[in-house]
Amino acid sequence: AQRNPGQPEYLQAVTEVLESLWPFIETHPRYAEHGLLDRLVEPERIVVFRVCWVDDRGEVQVNRGYRIQHSMAIGPYKGGLRFHPSVNLSVLKFLAFEQTLKNALTRLPMGGGKGGSDFDPKGKSAHEIMRFCQAFATELFRHVGPDTDVPAGDIGVGGREVGYIAGMVKKLTNSAGSVFTGKGLSFGGSLIRPEATGYGTVYFAQEMLKTRGKSFDGLRVSVSGSGNVAQYAVEKAMQLGATVVTVSDSSGTVLDEAGFTPEKLAVLMEVKNHLYGRVSDYAERSGARFLPGVRPWQVPVDVALPCATQNELDAGDAATLISNGVVCVAEGANMPATIEAAKAFEAAGVLYAPGKASNAGGVATSGLEMSQNAMRLSWTREEVDARLLQIMQGIHAACLKHGVRPDGSISYIDGANVAGFVKVADAMLAQGVI
Ligand code: NDP
Repeated sequence: AQRNPGQPEYLQAVTEVLESLWPFIETHPRYAEHGLLDRLVEPERIVVFRVCWVDDRGEVQVNRGYRIQHSMAIGPYKGGLRFHPSVNLSVLKFLAFEQTLKNALTRLPMGGGKGGSDFDPKGKSAHEIMRFCQAFATELFRHVGPDTDVPAGDIGVGGREVGYIAGMVKKLTNSAGSVFTGKGLSFGGSLIRPEATGYGTVYFAQEMLKTRGKSFDGLRVSVSGSGNVAQYAVEKAMQLGATVVTVSDSSGTVLDEAGFTPEKLAVLMEVKNHLYGRVSDYAERSGARFLPGVRPWQVPVDVALPCATQNELDAGDAATLISNGVVCVAEGANMPATIEAAKAFEAAGVLYAPGKASNAGGVATSGLEMSQNAMRLSWTREEVDARLLQIMQGIHAACLKHGVRPDGSISYIDGANVAGFVKVADAMLAQGVI
């Protein structure tokens, strides 16, 4: 804490992981040697930079850009870029740390990183977005490369923004190397990458439900958020027979007791992805109820899929979900449940998966995009989807390997942390003190 003052999210993520790892480390003391834990919680490199751009009124705007290169132990730094006013060092360090363990869980050769800016894309014109992305890229390009650091999208950074940043990086480096994932299909993107995090979260939840002899068919599901992850979580849960009753954004929740349909989802996607609107606009168009200022967690459901942002589900929300009989909570977002909420789910016997396990499908498919780019070929939708499913099942199996308690209950928190940690730690030990 002394070394990272004013970084509550980072301390929260590190505390959660180390507390969960501790019993394992006590029985495997070699993982506490060679300063391994101290090294693991210190990012290898942090770049902070000025981003200047000119808005549509001709005024100069100054934002702050970041890239956290957390760990290269098992491959190039890999992790998304986030554009949101809440972005700061603490948030990005927590995300880069989590990303390192998550990427290890996929078993693909990717290290961990994260980056972004405090730039707020809301209300900006298309030209302003492009100018900002290009300005951001004029510094970022020095720090990335196909074998060094391969960023992707995250909150506020979708296919459009990745395209603008990747385009500028290509121009500045005079190289078409695969420096980004989440690219458009026309310039090296992978089929299923946009769907991958949401689909993967639902695939993972499907494996969790199987441990109780259940499937999604006929279950009620709440989803928070309405962005990339949320949209495809809704789609896959629906395809598996669930009734999805909510989506949300930072202004409130849409409640639709009849459940989403493919037609309603198409309207949501139009509103969010093309009109850059709010869920209240969607509610108006679809006739669903909009609950201003409310989070989805008061709605009784069997499965909850938090897909918006960190700390969006607290101990009070967890208590409400538990008393309403929730069976399974799988995180599509990164650290949406507070530590207290996560502990409450486990204590109540709710199947609970932390994001580093259940949302790893996005980065896993980014890994598949890198493989396709390196081979200079494209796999079909079916092929990528099948690999995604297989990877999610593999992560679930890894969680069970390390997360089954003596009483037979499953801690996905411990399972994911130990499985991810062992892979990174073994690689670090093998490569010496560097
Ligand atoms: P998007 O920008 O597409 O969507 C973000 C959604 O979360 C929006 O609905 C947004 O609403 C909502 N949101 C953001 N901040 C807040 C807030 N403070 N309070 C309430 N709602 C909020 O991002 P993604 O869908 O890509 O990312 C969502 C989460 O999933 C993040 O935690 C991200 O790190 C994680 N993730 C994403 C991956 C990916 O492949 N995209 C991979 C793995 C994890 P609003 O418009 O009101 O801000």
